[in-house]
Amino acid sequence: MVFQYAPAPESTKIVKIDSSYGLFINGKFVKSKDGSQYKTINPATEEVLSEITLAGKKDVDLAVKAARSAYQKWSKLPGSVRGKYLYRIARILQERSREFAVLETINNGKPIRESRDVDMPLVAAHFFHYAGWADKLEHAGLGPKPQSLGVAAQIIPWNFPMLMLSWKIAPALAAGNTVVLKPAETTPLTALLFAEVCQQADLPPGVVNIITGAGETGAALVNHPNIDKVAFTGSTEVGRLIASSVAGTKKKVTLELGGKAANIVFDDAALDQAVEGIVNGIFFNQGHVCCAGSRLLVQESIKDEFLDLLYERVQTLRLGDPLDKNTDVGAINSAAQLAKIQELTQSGEQEGADRWSLKCDLPEKGFWFAPTVFTNVTQAHRIAREEIFGPVLSVLTFRTPQEAIEKANNTPFGLSAGIWTEKGSRILEVANNLRAGVVWANTFNKFDPTSPFGGYKESGYGREGGRVGLAAYLKSENKK
Ligand code: NAP
Ligand code: MG
Repeated sequence: MVFQYAPAPESTKIVKIDSSYGLFINGKFVKSKDGSQYKTINPATEEVLSEITLAGKKDVDLAVKAARSAYQKWSKLPGSVRGKYLYRIARILQERSREFAVLETINNGKPIRESRDVDMPLVAAHFFHYAGWADKLEHAGLGPKPQSLGVAAQIIPWNFPMLMLSWKIAPALAAGNTVVLKPAETTPLTALLFAEVCQQADLPPGVVNIITGAGETGAALVNHPNIDKVAFTGSTEVGRLIASSVAGTKKKVTLELGGKAANIVFDDAALDQAVEGIVNGIFFNQGHVCCAGSRLLVQESIKDEFLDLLYERVQTLRLGDPLDKNTDVGAINSAAQLAKIQELTQSGEQEGADRWSLKCDLPEKGFWFAPTVFTNVTQAHRIAREEIFGPVLSVLTFRTPQEAIEKANNTPFGLSAGIWTEKGSRILEVANNLRAGVVWANTFNKFDPTSPFGGYKESGYGREGGRVGLAAYLKSENKK
């Protein structure tokens, strides 16, 4: 029996969106010197939300100058004082978390249940975690007196706007750096609200600067001669551009790029739990997750039984208004991303895989894609090799653990993987042989600020999170 759910929309009254925004430089919202304006929309309705500044080169330069001059004092503050600011920011984020969650959902399209219950609690947790490190840097295993780097240029994607902001800003500030952050073009609003939080927390001007814009703004920031560090999360394509543009400079770089994770289900797994994990792994956040379990590797002997359970479960997913508390699958973030998902899924059909999509009504306005599962997928198919970054699962099979490992590793990426089995020894054996930065066992998409996150191969380099994440923002002793 299928239950009907009455609409349960979250109120948007808590959120105030200005008709236009300037740039947040040196503690104040300022007008652009040489940029232009663009419109940001709600991807679920295509409604224009606000006019955003597309920062130009002069703006980037001003932001870097502000960060540089703030660095002189900020880096010399006792760690305990920097920690106090970070604790304050963390508490304000908790207090205003509903406001942030609603705004995130409006600008991104993700279900409110996720922005409210996953994104925002993790964002606050990240600030709390790094607030605690600020006065303990000498105990981070990076030498007795690790030094900050200077000004960090930070560029983030649209899939987890606030979470990615927290992964970038919290460790940088704890370690004594100052930052210039560029949010993604399509999701600037929560970063601009975060600028308000910096003001509310009395953070010294220039410690955090937020400049909005598109790829060119990002490129101008990365190429600015007066920055010391680039922290980038985004596509492998842009990651490559950044790596080559900073090669031969003194700039330190961390890159968190794409993925094509295998979620491996062995025949002895608890199947109902595994189904939950597979569904969460690929349909959470519409599959706009770099570590999404986009390839299901299921042991051949249980394939039919498992797929029946999987289809049954996917049929219960509710797609629609992201602000509805009952929604499981929200809007695709942009027309461009929708086009990319459509192109790749068409290639799947053309190359001979079998497509199954959830039968559901797609809203007329906005960008939507029904949860989709491909079977009869071979390793040569594009849908098995390329990152789709959408709610699309490609199913492959295997017979032996060795074959599972080989297939899981047969990808240019290496960000994450999942293992489903009741056997502890098999978990250890398989995890040891997977080339993936994060391996989950009998669970998926679990995040914690203490746990490092990052990739191998074309998924990038460097780790974020936890003690290890501090290394990306500190010079070790005696290294100039
Ligand atoms: P993207 O196009 O690479 O954009 C990421 C950020 O870089 C955006 O702020 C973007 O601005 C900016 N940018 C674009 N071109 C640039 C350039 N030439 N120089 C400097 N900055 C530039 O990626 P996306 O489409 O937003 O995000 C999806 C990708 O991110 C996926 O491949 C996903 O796997 C990856 N991702 C990885 C992680 C991870 O932790 N490993 C996490 C989340 C996402 P615009 O917004 O204006 O394009
Ligand atoms: Mg882009």
